[in-house]
Amino acid sequence: MINIILQNRVYTGDLIQGKKKVENYRTHKLISTNEDEWIIIQNNHEPIVSKDKFDKVQEIINKNKCARSNKEKDLFFSFLKCLDCESSFTLRKVKNYEYYYCTSYVRNGNCTSHSIRKDKLIEIVLHELNKKFERNKIDTLTRDILLKNIDNIIIFKNGEATLNFK
Ligand SMILES: [Zn+2]
Repeated sequence: MINIILQNRVYTGDLIQGKKKVENYRTHKLISTNEDEWIIIQNNHEPIVSKDKFDKVQEIINKNKCARSNKEKDLFFSFLKCLDCESSFTLRKVKNYEYYYCTSYVRNGNCTSHSIRKDKLIEIVLHELNKKFERNKIDTLTRDILLKNIDNIIIFKNGEATLNFK
C-alpha cells in the first residue's frame, strides 16, 4: 500500500492518462501501456509530495529492488529442472559444500533427492559450454552467460546433468 502511494506520480501534481489501452476491440480487453505511451499533464493539481522528494523516493525504491533481486538469485536460480517431477531445485549447505536438491523432495518427499554438488555442476556446465563454443573459452560461469545460452538444465536421479541450449 505504501509503495503504491510512493510510486504514484499523481501525488506530485501531475495527471497521467493512457496507462491502459484497449488491446482487442471485440472483447474490450484492457492492457497496460509502456511508460513512453503515457500522456503526462504536468502540474495539473496541487501537489501532495514535491517532485524532488518523489524522484528521490523512486531512486531509493529502485536501488532496494536491485539489491534484493541480486542477493536472492543464486547462479542457477530458475535453470534447474528435475527429470522425474519437473520441479525446481533448492540450494542447501552441507558441511563445506553446497548442494542442489529437487524442491519437491525437500518440501514433501514426493521425489528423490536428485542431489548435485554446486561446484560439480559448475564444472559440468563449463565443460559443455566450452565444448559448444570452442572459440571463446569461458573460465568463470556467470548468470549472464547462463541467461544468454541456456534454456534449462535437467538433473537426473544420479546427479547427472543435461543442458538444453537456447
Ligand atoms: Zn523431482
